[in-house]
Amino acid sequence: MTTRFTRPSPDILRDDQDALEIRTDILIIGGGPAATWAAINAADTAAEHGLSVTLVDKGWCGASGVAATAGVGHWLTPPGAPQRRETFGVKDATGGGLSDWAWTDAFLDETWAQISRLPDMGWNRVQKKQTVPSLDLTGDNPSGVPYFRGPAPDYLRFLRGQVKKRGVLILDHSPATGLLVTDTRDAVAGAHGHQTQANRGWTVHASSVVLATGGTTWRSHSLGGDTNTGDGQLMAAEAGADLAAMEFSNFQGMVPFGTSMDKNGYFIQAEYRTAGGTPITYTDLHYSRVPIIEHSVRGTVYSRFSQFTPDQWGRVRSSMPNFFAVTDKLGIDPFTEFFPIDWVNEGTVRGTGGIRVDDTTCAAGLPGLFVAGDVAARDKITGAATGAGGPNLAWAVASGAWAGRHAARHASGQVRKDTGVHLDSIASARSGDRRSSSPDWGGSPTASGARCFP
Ligand SMILES: Cc1cc2nc3c(=O)[nH]c(=O)nc-3n(C[C@H](O)[C@H](O)[C@H](O)COP(=O)(O)OP(=O)(O)OC[C@H]3O[C@@H](n4cnc5c(N)ncnc54)[C@H](O)[C@@H]3O)c2cc1C
Repeated sequence: MTTRFTRPSPDILRDDQDALEIRTDILIIGGGPAATWAAINAADTAAEHGLSVTLVDKGWCGASGVAATAGVGHWLTPPGAPQRRETFGVKDATGGGLSDWAWTDAFLDETWAQISRLPDMGWNRVQKKQTVPSLDLTGDNPSGVPYFRGPAPDYLRFLRGQVKKRGVLILDHSPATGLLVTDTRDAVAGAHGHQTQANRGWTVHASSVVLATGGTTWRSHSLGGDTNTGDGQLMAAEAGADLAAMEFSNFQGMVPFGTSMDKNGYFIQAEYRTAGGTPITYTDLHYSRVPIIEHSVRGTVYSRFSQFTPDQWGRVRSSMPNFFAVTDKLGIDPFTEFFPIDWVNEGTVRGTGGIRVDDTTCAAGLPGLFVAGDVAARDKITGAATGAGGPNLAWAVASGAWAGRHAARHASGQVRKDTGVHLDSIASARSGDRRSSSPDWGGSPTASGARCFP
């Protein structure tokens, strides 16, 4: 079934070489899975109320964010499935018993509801071109469980198409640098930023704002993480939101030495030894990497992917081609040779800290502000352990849907306005320089603001 969407467009108030100024109802900040699922759900809900949706991305929505470099694997279990409790148990134990089981049930139900929409949304057309099918909702496969996994570029491009199809205005290469608040400073009123290609400022007035700017890797240059500089966390904190689980935000990923290729999956069951050739033993690297890190602080550690048999090498290579492009360039055969490894800080991308979310509205801070995806804390799902390998992407889908819907509901009770003052800006917050409260600001960022640009 094909659904055609028509809805009100945002009002363009100013569009010249110095500035772009728009009035919309719902503004989504970010362009990864959380932002696009938020935009889809906001637009579907907004359609009932005649509201417009605008999305701004620091990069190009459909190719930006950390998922863009990866294969996507969602934690996907239907409501009531017995394997859900089993997987919960393992994750809860790994994360120190800090998971909230009712919360996890609720978010997995929402993930299932959203992913189940994919066939109607046209995913089957994408899947037909894939050598290995990425979506199975029936569980009628050798693993016996439903799954949704595969190349992220297919997925992100598809999500961008769905967002556009719903009439959402997308501004690419337009990082947000600060929020707008109402004159009385008691609600969010939009955001402002800079268009890097047009080299002009932008201001978007909106009744609801969803922050979906991803986690932060603390500028460690981890794979795909350069665009994620913690802007959303700072903006939400400035608007009164709380951070949670930041003590679980220093996750270290493993890479071939001298590279940023942090695809951790293959390292989990690999073989390790010291420079002197002494084998390093470990129990479960999902649970703790301390045995390897302990040796790394004393000298270089070497790894080999000897867990794979020769008949599996071809499949393993094709499922993560960019990892092997790097090892090929280095002249390493990781299946047969030991190669030196290093560590890269993956911060809150694979750690679980972020903006605290208390309920399924995903509201945070001032009224009208919502958060989704890695910008939000995920400790209620995996506690102190990493949310990588399924939970994080499932959370991006569910929290995107929740935030998008509630942002639209919030906006439906508001009148479109084009006022608002800068709450603060990333540039001024970091430099201590308070800018004027004119919403027209949009010139080039200061040196410290420029640190937030890829
Ligand atoms: C190599 C790798 C493999 C992974 N594999 C898996 C997996 O298999 N399963 C799993 O569950 N998880 C996986 N993850 C984690 C998963 O990719 C993330 O949880 C997911 O991408 C989070 O989605 P997000 O939209 O919140 O953030 P991101 O995908 O990081 O998107 C953030 C977006 O915000 C934009 N942005 C940032 N700042 C601004 C700003 N100031 N203004 C406007 N836009 C801004 C960025 O351009 C980007 O579009 C993996 C991560 C990595 C690094």
